[in-house]
Parts: sequence; structure tokens; C-alpha cells
Amino acid sequence: QALFQSDVGALLEQVGTGKESLSFMKRRIRRLAAQWAAAARRLDERLRGGWRERRRILVHVGFLTEESGDVFSPKVLKGGPLGEMVQWADIVTALHVLGHDLRISVSLKELHGFLGVPPGRGSCPLTGPLPFDLIYTDYHGLQQMKQHMGLSLRKHKCHIRVIDTFGTEPAYNHEEYATLHGYRTNWGYWNLHGQQYMTMFPHTPDNSFMGFVAEELNETERLHIQRSKVNNMAVVYGKEANMWKLQGKEKVLSILHRYMDVHGTVYYETQRPPEVPAFVKNHGLLPQQELQQLLRRAKLFVGFGFPYEGPAPLEAIANGCVFLQPRFSPPRSSLNHEFFRGKPTSREVSSQHPYAEQNIGRPHVITIDFNNSEEFDATVREIMKIKVEPFLPYEYTCEGMLERLHAYIQNQDFCSPEEPFPAGNWSWLGSAAGPFALQPNSSVLLWASNASSHASWPPLAALRLLASLEGESCVTACHGAGLVCEPALYRFINIKEAFSALDFQCEGLESEMNHLLPAFSAEHAECGLQQDPLLFSCAGSSAKYQRLCPCRDYRAGQVALCRDCL
Ligand code: UDP
Repeated sequence: QALFQSDVGALLEQVGTGKESLSFMKRRIRRLAAQWAAAARRLDERLRGGWRERRRILVHVGFLTEESGDVFSPKVLKGGPLGEMVQWADIVTALHVLGHDLRISVSLKELHGFLGVPPGRGSCPLTGPLPFDLIYTDYHGLQQMKQHMGLSLRKHKCHIRVIDTFGTEPAYNHEEYATLHGYRTNWGYWNLHGQQYMTMFPHTPDNSFMGFVAEELNETERLHIQRSKVNNMAVVYGKEANMWKLQGKEKVLSILHRYMDVHGTVYYETQRPPEVPAFVKNHGLLPQQELQQLLRRAKLFVGFGFPYEGPAPLEAIANGCVFLQPRFSPPRSSLNHEFFRGKPTSREVSSQHPYAEQNIGRPHVITIDFNNSEEFDATVREIMKIKVEPFLPYEYTCEGMLERLHAYIQNQDFCSPEEPFPAGNWSWLGSAAGPFALQPNSSVLLWASNASSHASWPPLAALRLLASLEGESCVTACHGAGLVCEPALYRFINIKEAFSALDFQCEGLESEMNHLLPAFSAEHAECGLQQDPLLFSCAGSSAKYQRLCPCRDYRAGQVALCRDCL
């Protein structure tokens, strides 16, 4: 039985010393300890009575190992990326607080020790049973395990979870398919289940959403913020001088400066970086705690387009700032933009922070064309007038992260073989009426006549079958119906009955390896089933196909979990 534990003393010892990155993580763990403890109490109360299995968990942070070059640690105090450190600190804290049996490794030596593999050159297969139920690592760590566990990695890989900031779509993950169809990148092709990859934001439902947390305010702090907000104070997002190199930045900054005092937290050694104009009050890189204090006073947090999808905008919004950011038109992706090139995803990034844009939105988040000076000018003036409350989506609170991780740990299982779907035992209700009629003519409810014998998580009852439009992905189709695509439920709709339930008349029925299947192709009235479950993918679209989409509902503020998922 896993018991919640709120004391982080033992965790701090496990995190170790000797690197700036580890010190950063420890400072964060200490600072947020009370917040985690309060969240644990609340969740414990809500789950009261429920048995939670205590798992043996290894966290191997590959990118911090010397063997992978550890380029991050030396940059912690110099404005380098901190988002990953924030997330790993929160992951180990959540696992610890949930009461699991945790080991943390940041070197190959420790990894070997924990896995019981003799150190040495080349591949030393782990011969005995894996001493862990779960291993959280990153792409670097995965590579290291491959090199040092050799063949046994294949045997044990269902226990692995890969922390993967930007996400990996199934087409890129499937080695053979990626190689044959031009989806091969430096990262993908590990043949894992898509949901073994865990992302920083809920990018694509093909992956699991791990996330991180931002600081929460108590009532006193809220009141204090209300009183101390300075309507004409802006903080610019970007701790490295080269993040201030936005094209046309001078124009944007001068408009901003016309109305507001402009602050920055750009790292510098001795002199003001030339990219940062003299009128900007530059505080230098601040400790996280001091950044929070600055954000509490500021009214506006403004992004110049980089970094993408970091934690700082959520922190700003949680401290009552409006986040103003540029729209990317056309959207950026691995197909058209250097930063995303080679990343194993085709996701289109529509602004600096699509999560803030799409999942939070106005009044907290305003996304505009920064080349349009008039619009920028009008928006800044509007922001000075509006009153905005601090806001933090539930899924980014400690309780939200604990709830989500708890649900994954207790329910996600990539080790047991999936039972083939027994088509004959299921019946369909065509074009369901009532609460299930989500879209005219395309909404159908699938009834399981013997659901209990085929336990699924999320439960099958959450499934809502929809057809996408031609050229539309299942991510978009489900989203349009107020639902989310759920790849774990694909196996239930990869049957010919699903086509008739959606009123598709199949002239032919083929089974193929294609990440867009199951789908209907109108041209030849061809129905296509998916041959390889590893290719079930919510992402992906083609003008040729109307895709079959397994959608599900989700909890308010917690998109990763369906209503009956806890
Ligand atoms: N941060 C900080 N001091 C600063 C600016 C940022 O400690 O002066 C922290 C911030 O609190 C956030 C983290 O850096 O949690 C990562 O921020 P960012 O959104 O810039 O993402 P990154 O590019 O570092 O991954």
C-alpha cells in the first residue's frame, strides 16, 4: 500500500549534490514542499479507502548525466533552459509524495547500480528480473539503457516512461513505418506505446500528459496581489539575451515603453546585453522565488516568440499577469521551422504558447499579430485597463498533478497483452439520440454487452465514436465535439461494424499499416482498418480520409482523465 508522505527530507537526500541543476531542483522541492503536502492531504481525503499499490520506481534523468554531455547544468545560473529541471523536480516530488519506493539516478554508475548490471563497456544485458515496476527517463536515458542493457531492454520496455517535452507521434515512433514513410528522426523509432511518452503540456493525446506545477496562491496572497498590482508594469519573457532578437522588436518595445515600465530578467555577466534597450529595467536572472515576486507586481508578461511552451507564462498567469504573445502565421512545425526540425511530431505550433492560447485564453492570455503595431498598441492599452484575477488550471496545481500521476500509475498497463477485440459480442446503436447526439448524423454510441470482462482504462463506457471530416485529424474532430481523442480506445473501434455505425458503406475493406487508419476513403468507398496497434494515432490527417475517432469526455481542468477515470 502506498501512503502519502509530505516530508521531503528523504527526497532531498536522494536528489544528491554536486551540480547546479540538482541544487536548483532541491531549492524548488523545498520551496514547494508545503504546497505539495496540502495537496496530498486533499487528494488522500478524496481517494479515501482506495487501495494504491506501492510501486518500485526508478527515475533516471539522462540529460543530466556526464555521459550525455550534461550541457544543462552549467547553464542553470546563466539563463539556460530551466523548464526541464522544473519538470523533473516536480516529477520526483509527486512520486515521493504519492508514497512510492523511489530511486533517483543522474549518472550511468548509479543506473548500473540500481539495475544490478555490472558496469563495463558495451552491452551488458540485465539477465534477472527488472528490479523496478516503472522507470521514468528521457530520450538520452533510453539510449543509455539500450547501450547498457542490450537485448533485455526489449523485454523490459513496457515498464519505461519517457519524459518528452514536445511529444512523439505514433508515425515517428514506429521504427519500420517511420523508415518507410519518411518519419524517421533522431529521436523517434523506439516502438513504444504512444502513451509511454509523457509530455510537458497536453500536446497530443497520443502521448500521456505529465506536466509540472506552478505556485498556488492562498487568500492572503490573492488579496495582497490585488493591492500591489502596478497597472503600467510589464515583464518581458526571456532570460537569455538572444531571446530578445525578435524581428521588429524595437517597434514592439517602443510601443510598450510608451505606456509601461518595462522589466526584464536577462542573464548578464558584467554589462547590459546589447539586445536589451537602456530603458528596460533588467534584474538579471532571478531566483525562481524572486521572479514570482516580480510577477506579482506586474500587470503584463510579454513573450517575444521564444522560448516555446515553457513554464514561465503559467507562473505569470498564476500571479495575476496577462500574458501577451505573438501568433505564428503560418503555424510553426517540424516541417517549416528550424527549432522543431527533427522533432518526432508534426504538431503545428500556432503561437509561442499554444496551451496558454487554446486552454486558457482571454482575459489571461492574449495572442495577436506582433507585426500589426496598431493592434499591439491597442492591446497594451486594453490590458492596462482590464482587471484580471490570478488563474492556474487545475491540471497544473500540485493536487492536479498528483491526481493524474496517481491515475496513470494505478491504471496504465503496457505490459499485459491486449485481448483482441471480440467483434461479435458488441452491438451498435446507430445515430444515438439524447445526450450522446454530439454531431448530427455522425455520433454513435457503442454499447458493450460484456464490458466488464474486457477491462479497459479509460473505461469503455467513456468512448464516443466520431468520424472526422476529410482532411481533419482525430485531435481536431474530438475537440470540435467538446471531447478529447483517446488512443487507448482505438482497439474497440478498429472493426468493420464501426463503419456501418457511422453510415459508411464499405465497397471494400482492407487492413493496412497506416497511422491514419481506421478511416473511410470516399473516392472508392474503401474502408481501412489498422493492422498494427502501435500506429493508432489521434494526430494526422489527409484530404483522402475521413478518420474514425475514439473520443472521450474529460474532467474540468484535467484533460488527461475522463470523468470515470479515477
Ligand atoms: N526562471 C527563473 N528566473 C528567471 C526567469 C525564469 O528562475 O529570471 C524560471 C521560471 O520560474 C520557470 C523556469 O525558469 O519556471 C523556466 O522558464 P521558461 O519558461 O523560460 O522555460 P525554459 O526555456 O527555461 O525551459
